[in-house]
Amino acid sequence: MFPQFTEDQIAIRDAARAFALAEIDPGAAARDASGEFPREILKKLGEMGFLGMTVPEALGGGGSDFLSYILALEQIAYTDASVAVTMSVNNSVACAPILAFGTQEQKEQYLRPLASGEALGGFMLTEPDAGSDAAALKTRATRTTGGWRLNGAKAWITNGGEGRYFVIMARSDPDKGKKGISAFILDADQPGVLMGRPEDKMGLRSSKTVMVTLEEAFVPEGALLGKLGDGLKVAFGGLDGGRIGIAAQALGIAQRAMDESVSYAKSRRSFGKAIGEHQMIQTYLAEMESHLQAARLLVYRAAAMKEAGKTCTLEAATAKLFTTESAVWICDRAVQIHGGYGYSHEYLVERLYRDVRVTTIYEGTSEIQRMVIARELLK
Ligand SMILES: Cc1cc2nc3c(=O)[nH]c(=O)nc-3n(C[C@H](O)[C@H](O)[C@H](O)COP(=O)(O)OP(=O)(O)OC[C@H]3O[C@@H](n4cnc5c(N)ncnc54)[C@H](O)[C@@H]3O)c2cc1C
Repeated sequence: MFPQFTEDQIAIRDAARAFALAEIDPGAAARDASGEFPREILKKLGEMGFLGMTVPEALGGGGSDFLSYILALEQIAYTDASVAVTMSVNNSVACAPILAFGTQEQKEQYLRPLASGEALGGFMLTEPDAGSDAAALKTRATRTTGGWRLNGAKAWITNGGEGRYFVIMARSDPDKGKKGISAFILDADQPGVLMGRPEDKMGLRSSKTVMVTLEEAFVPEGALLGKLGDGLKVAFGGLDGGRIGIAAQALGIAQRAMDESVSYAKSRRSFGKAIGEHQMIQTYLAEMESHLQAARLLVYRAAAMKEAGKTCTLEAATAKLFTTESAVWICDRAVQIHGGYGYSHEYLVERLYRDVRVTTIYEGTSEIQRMVIARELLK
């Protein structure tokens, strides 16, 4: 098996799988229907060290390596993509940038609660008029006594209304273009941070995604993350890891769709035999499995490269593009194999089909991944 996993990595993967099947899977359909946020599950994931997996133990984290995180995330997504995205955001875009760019004081102050699950975190980059083109963001950070005041709006913020500490990008100097954007750590527990109603999403129904309005929100001097003007560096610095994380989420969802399809193909009968005995269904299964195996290798390779400290921009973008597009297609075929039942809330593949759809959109759309891949090839 490539890459060769260590005993620790296998133990973490198996622990994640056992927890996911025992504690997450049973209530996933009900949470999808009600939109209930999985607070108790997240509390337990925090206790297991899964909310800050690569944060050192000395700072309250899991002290694991990046590949272990990816293996665990895949297993969580196998049972509930809503829990997986919450875990992924906390690890990849809240803890990781603070770990990479934070001062020792910031790590002590913010990583401890974030990694233990005492407080959830998030990432505020996207705005109503600035998504893929993040440098077009308009949220303003203006100097005030002892820190900064933030004014503006952030869109599609995962963990909004549930989380406390958010890495946020805002324009600290309107005359400097991309270099005028800075990153801060925002404590959302203050009157100037107004959380909107949760978005009524197609999938990931029990994760929370909201519009955030900032009205004179205060950020103390000590919460500037990285250097002034380095906001996009902070935002994009963790993107390779974030992309591999979303690819792992898509992989877990697609593996579940695969397993559900194989099982259904054995039990559902038509024309006097199991539908899995019809050659056309076999073709679907074979192609789904081929995509799945190829995607898994891409995800693990990119994760192993990141863990080894190698540049993996090309590999991370390739893994995200191929895996998420394949996963959407695999879930589509899974619905097809289930026939009319696949179109019903009663069958799991219907939820997988809705949940997987966003993976080609967030943390860089498929179009943006294609641009990144082409840029890497042509540079
Ligand atoms: C469920 C969910 C959770 C999210 N969570 C967060 C979060 O926690 N924090 C956060 O900051 N953001 C979050 N996002 C926002 C997400 O990252 C953006 O939706 C994404 O970056 C795309 O931006 P956009 O929606 O504005 O689309 P746009 O940028 O408007 O793109 C629209 C279309 O145009 C294409 N396009 C744009 N530019 C180009 C180009 N140059 N060439 C070719 N095609 C192009 C895009 O690929 C897309 O197909 C979340 C989104 C969702 C749906």
